[in-house]
Amino acid sequence: MSIDLLDLKGVGEKGLIKLNKIGVRTVEDLLFHLPIRYQDKTKLSKISGLEEGNKYFVEGIVEKSNITFYKKRMFLVRISDSTGFIQLRFFYFNKSQMNNFSEGRKVRCYGELRLANKVKEMIHPECEFFDQTDIPELEQHLTPIYPITDGLHQFRIRNFIKQSLSLLKSREIFFPEILPKKILEKYNLIDINSALLNIHNPNKNISYEEITSSDNENKKRLVFEELLAHQLIFKRIRALNKRLLSFELNDNDKPIKKLINNLPFKPTKSQSEVMKEIITDMQEKTPMMRLVQGDVGSGKTLVALFAALHAISNGYQVAFMAPTEILSEQHYQSIKLMLKEFNINIALLYSGIRAKEKEMIIEDIRLGNIDLIIGTHALIQNQIKFFNLALVIIDEQHKFGVHQRMTLSTKGKKSSTYPHQLILTATPIPRTLAMTLYGNLDYSVINEMPRGRQVIDTIALPEDRRSEIMKRIIIKCKEGDQVYWVCPLINESEVLECKAAINTFEELDAELKDINIGLIHGRMKMLEKEKVMGDFRNKKIDLLVSTTIIEVGLDVPNATVMIIENSERMGLSQLHQLRGRVGRGNKKSTCILIYKSGLSEIARSRIDILRRCNNGFDIAREDLDIRGPGEILGKKQKGDINFKIANITRDYKYIKDTKECAESISNRTSEKLAKRWINEEIEIGKA
Ligand code: ADP
Ligand code: MG
Repeated sequence: MSIDLLDLKGVGEKGLIKLNKIGVRTVEDLLFHLPIRYQDKTKLSKISGLEEGNKYFVEGIVEKSNITFYKKRMFLVRISDSTGFIQLRFFYFNKSQMNNFSEGRKVRCYGELRLANKVKEMIHPECEFFDQTDIPELEQHLTPIYPITDGLHQFRIRNFIKQSLSLLKSREIFFPEILPKKILEKYNLIDINSALLNIHNPNKNISYEEITSSDNENKKRLVFEELLAHQLIFKRIRALNKRLLSFELNDNDKPIKKLINNLPFKPTKSQSEVMKEIITDMQEKTPMMRLVQGDVGSGKTLVALFAALHAISNGYQVAFMAPTEILSEQHYQSIKLMLKEFNINIALLYSGIRAKEKEMIIEDIRLGNIDLIIGTHALIQNQIKFFNLALVIIDEQHKFGVHQRMTLSTKGKKSSTYPHQLILTATPIPRTLAMTLYGNLDYSVINEMPRGRQVIDTIALPEDRRSEIMKRIIIKCKEGDQVYWVCPLINESEVLECKAAINTFEELDAELKDINIGLIHGRMKMLEKEKVMGDFRNKKIDLLVSTTIIEVGLDVPNATVMIIENSERMGLSQLHQLRGRVGRGNKKSTCILIYKSGLSEIARSRIDILRRCNNGFDIAREDLDIRGPGEILGKKQKGDINFKIANITRDYKYIKDTKECAESISNRTSEKLAKRWINEEIEIGKA
């Protein structure tokens, strides 16, 4: 179509880049950038009538404000109207924010009401100040709230969308109907153009409850289409998978029993159950495609090892892929140890390996002399011919969307027998969603942690309180514990990230004379990295300064303190993963989030969520609230549930309908829907 994003007022080259970042490439995409929720600023509420748990817009006069130090430094403000008073509580604040609350000033606040010791309060409400003489008008409609990204503010996105809505109204933009008429009638679906108009700009008299209910006709139309698009993709994958053949492995539980007897601990009930599911799958003649979800630290590696052992004892080869070199090295070391009583040949493949050695390994794999090959995804996928590969294990794969992951092993394959596939992920997907939506993709959850684990304490500290952190580190290291100090990337340059880690290493090394400090980053050679990780594991290093290369998978149970710099710049799932590097043994662990003062609203809520929640599911749920589904997983981990509007808990009832409906949709329609709703390069069934 002819209208370009740059034709909208205020977008500009920079705005364009940011819009692209959230998947918006055309004005049409912008119209499919849907609100995650709404704010009701159409009316003011009296303070006396406020009830706990609801969101309100109130107006009052600032009575007083002060800083307190109960457990933590906080800024408290009391405002009142003619019916009563409420307290506003801020954990993060700066001078100018404090100055705004001068006595006698008029303010409007929007936020959720809670009771703290029977006092009504709002935590970090949105505030607007104004003069007695210049009273702002109330909003006419519910205000849509959109998923945003750092540097692209709510009001800007809202403004861009408003402009596109005018184009939609004047029919300069128009979406032709994709769905067949029969389906529109059968499921009672309204026209897509008016659904979009109304969802962005709800009718004056419509209430929050109505517009967000799954029965709302505008919402229904959009949710239905989106769920349908996902169903159709999975249908194609299912059809493809059914035509493939795999290896029927025999049932023989002796090797696994032997492995369990050698373990220093008992597998959890959940680990054993998931193991059984996997082994049952691998006895079938069609390839297994099983996703195993388990929170950070739940023990996914052991489950994968059971699967590997099973395939190997049946006489086949297994490939185990991890996202980073140090993680594959860790798996190699720990698996070698766990399998030492078995006659199994294991090899590690990484890019820095000497050419001669690499050639030998590759040759041995081809001849079937190696049973288990461990390495990064890139290596194993691209260059290797296997003798008889029956199982591929993909650990912590966030880089592709689910759809892509499932087609990985089918790409470029010539022989007619396909390996079984096991995907391990810490990304939380509700079970009911996975079961229904992913259709034939088998799904298991490890839903319990090994015994004896303790909740990790999470603390947020501004940069200028580094000295306190130092004291804590010294104490911990003296007690024999170990510490990670992570310097995550500030902009997207690996070189700069490494520099930051090197600088921090030098500073800490000069400051903490009695402590053994190590450094690890992505630009080091594999051998150096191996040495550092080995020293950390053997406690020759007390404090390990690193970049985010330690983010996923690393397992050093004696490490109990995780310090994360620039935590305000990172997404929740990444912070949760990093935090998951500690708390892996029986000792109490702590995570310290260092931030620069002057926090944005999102950064503030992120830190708050991490302090309150320890479990990946809770975090994902809360993240949904602050950023919207598309942003849940952050850029790196995109893919698992990239819903724009559907909410599985709320819109569950449409899943059945869309599944049924998917049966009668043509391939052409299906492609159009996928293009509209699923922001991934998809090539399914085209092999
Ligand atoms: P993740 O699910 O994050 O990949 P890992 O597989 O790395 O977790 O396991 C985390 C730690 O828990 C490892 O040190 C592992 O040896 C240990 N572990 C795994 N299963 C159990 C269990 N059943 N009981 C006690 N410790 C376990
Ligand atoms: Mg792991």
